[in-house]
This record gives sequence, structure tokens and C-alpha cells, in this order.
Amino acid sequence: MTDATGAPRQRRARRTATTPATSTTPATSTTAATTGGSSRPSDGALPDDARRPLLARDAATLDDLDALVVGCRACPRLVAWREEVAEVKRAAFRDETYWARPVPGFGDPQAGVLVVGLAPAAHGANRTGRMFTGDRSGDFLFASMHRTGFASQALSVRADDGLTLTGIRVTAPVRCAPPANAPTPAERRTCGPYLAREVELVDAGVMVVLGGFGWQAVLTTLAEQGWDVPRPRPAFGHGVEVRLRRPDAGRGRTELTLLGCFHVSQQNTFTGRLTPAMLDAVLERARVLAVGGEV
Ligand code: SF4
Repeated sequence: MTDATGAPRQRRARRTATTPATSTTPATSTTAATTGGSSRPSDGALPDDARRPLLARDAATLDDLDALVVGCRACPRLVAWREEVAEVKRAAFRDETYWARPVPGFGDPQAGVLVVGLAPAAHGANRTGRMFTGDRSGDFLFASMHRTGFASQALSVRADDGLTLTGIRVTAPVRCAPPANAPTPAERRTCGPYLAREVELVDAGVMVVLGGFGWQAVLTTLAEQGWDVPRPRPAFGHGVEVRLRRPDAGRGRTELTLLGCFHVSQQNTFTGRLTPAMLDAVLERARVLAVGGEV
């Protein structure tokens, strides 16, 4: 089977990517890393208010998109929080310089599987600058990706730890750490254009959605992009599988599959609501769908 460009889908899932070597990443940034926002990134004439996410639709590449994302200050409450936790810090990380900026997606730029979470963790990705990196949620997720052949290693501790992802990419509908892991609906809407453009640019055939917040954000995005999202919307659940179609072939692929999965938060993993075997099964199913050409 082929994708909308005529390229065999199997090739899409084999490509490997490290943290992209752009100035938007913590490991290579030429704009000063921030501690509590004391050194704000500057990108010239671009707005840093609510107009900025709207520019995402014109991002030609993921690097362009990431450059927009990391300089965003459109949500005052989240900007204040991400910078405050970087000043106060957790005792275990008191000697570290926090990223304290929005976190771009991470992984294979042409992944067959796009994993969508919720938002960066205050002392995880908000500290390390890489999605799902530096906290227990990420430990759980990347260990599963390693077992299922998507990740080069099980450990994900910092942006320059050598982890590479093949055939999979991780992102979030909200790019800044929110207080109590709870973005507001308005913040989700403001950040929405970044997710929408990433979905378009990656054009994955399978989306693994971690939790109900991401599920609603993804369905909103896909409906706006012309996918035939049923009404009422399919309910989120672990193991739920939804096949969607899009009649307008001029906008990219015409079929994709959503897979629901409980979020990898400690609330779920510590209680056994989500076990390693359950997550492995979802990722294995995603691989079958993406690499096996079922989408
Ligand atoms: S959550 Fe999104 S829109 Fe809001 S400041 Fe962060 S990157 Fe910008």
C-alpha cells in the first residue's frame, strides 16, 4: 500500500530520528536556556501573544513549527507557571537549569504513529526540554517503546541522552506545563494550531491518544481538518479503536486510525490501571496498523 504521496507506507515507519538538531532544542540551543524566564528567547518581529499560534498553519516544516512553538508566550497563566517552577525547582533538580519554555514534539518526523499526550510535566519536560523526558510518565512510555521496537533505549533522562525514535513521534495538545496538570479549555484552544500543523506535517496513519483530554483535542483537530468524525463523538476508552476517513484526498492521507490508551501518568501506572503489558499491546497494535499497511 502507498500513502498520499505514493510512497510505500512501510518506509514511513522505519525512519529514525533523534532530537532534531535545530536551535529550538535544549541540547543545541543558541538562544539562552532560561531559568525562570530570566533570559527570554527572541525571534525578532514574531508576535509572542495569542496571534503567534495562528502562524503555525504557515509552517512549512517541523523545524519551522518547533521554532514558533519554543518562543510562544500566548497563555499568561502557563507562562507564569512554567517559569515559576523553574525558579523554585524541585530539590532533586536544584542544580539544573530548567528549559522553562514550550516543548516541541519529539521523534521521527515521518512517523507512522503519532502519540498524543496532555502537556509537559513541570519538573519533567519543562525541565529537560524534551517531551515525556525526565519523569516517571516518560520512563513508563519509553520503556514500552523500547520493548516494542520504536525506541533505541528504554531510558529517557535528558535531551542529549542519545535516545532515538523510529516510526513514532510524541507530542501534546498543550506545549507548556500547566498547574496541577490541568490546562483550561481556552488554553487548549489557543495551543491548538500547533497540534493541528504537526498532525498535518507528520501525516501519520495511526494516532495513539493518551487520555481523555488528548482524545478530545485530537477529535477537534481532525474534525477541523475534514475528517469524518462521527457525531456524537466516539467516547475515549483504553483499547478503543476508531477508523476515520477523509473524502478530500488533496489534504494528505484519506484514512487513519485512532487508538485510545490510558495516560501514562503515575495515577494510572502506580495503581495498575495501566500496566506495561497494556501499553505494549496498544503500541504493538499501532505498529501492525502502521507498518502492516492497514491504514
Ligand atoms: S500552551 Fe501553547 S499557546 Fe499557550 S503559551 Fe504554551 S505554547 Fe503558547
